[in-house]
Order: sequence, then C-alpha cells, then structure tokens
Amino acid sequence: MDNPAICKACGALMAFVQTSAGKTMPVNFSTLTEAEKIILRRGEALNYNKEYHISHFATCPAASNFRKAKK
Ligand SMILES: [Zn+2]
Repeated sequence: MDNPAICKACGALMAFVQTSAGKTMPVNFSTLTEAEKIILRRGEALNYNKEYHISHFATCPAASNFRKAKK
C-alpha cells in the first residue's frame, strides 16, 4: 500500500493511519504534523489522532461517488 496515497476520486494527497480499533483509515495529508510526515516517510505506522486528523472521507468532494462507483 502506498502511504501517502492519492485519492482516486479527487486526486488529494492522503495518509493512512491506524485507528484504536486496529483499522486503517485515510486522513487528509495536510492534517498531519511535520513529525508525522517524517514518520510516514520512514515507512512506519501512524496512529489516528482524533484531535487534528481529518478523515479524507469526510472532506472528499467526490465522496458520494464511492458508493455509486461500487458494482
Ligand atoms: Zn478524495
């Protein structure tokens, strides 16, 4: 998996983080701290921080396409 990755729907840069439930979710790359971007560049896992990480699904302008596109 690429991390950071490009959203296929809108082309935005997003980073995958681990939630406390052990799941992976994409957050907007711009909401990462500088320290977190460095961690990501080293290929290490990042933990989701609900204080400032914003789920890309919440802001993606093409989010409604995800369901429609599913076959
Ligand atoms: Zn998007």
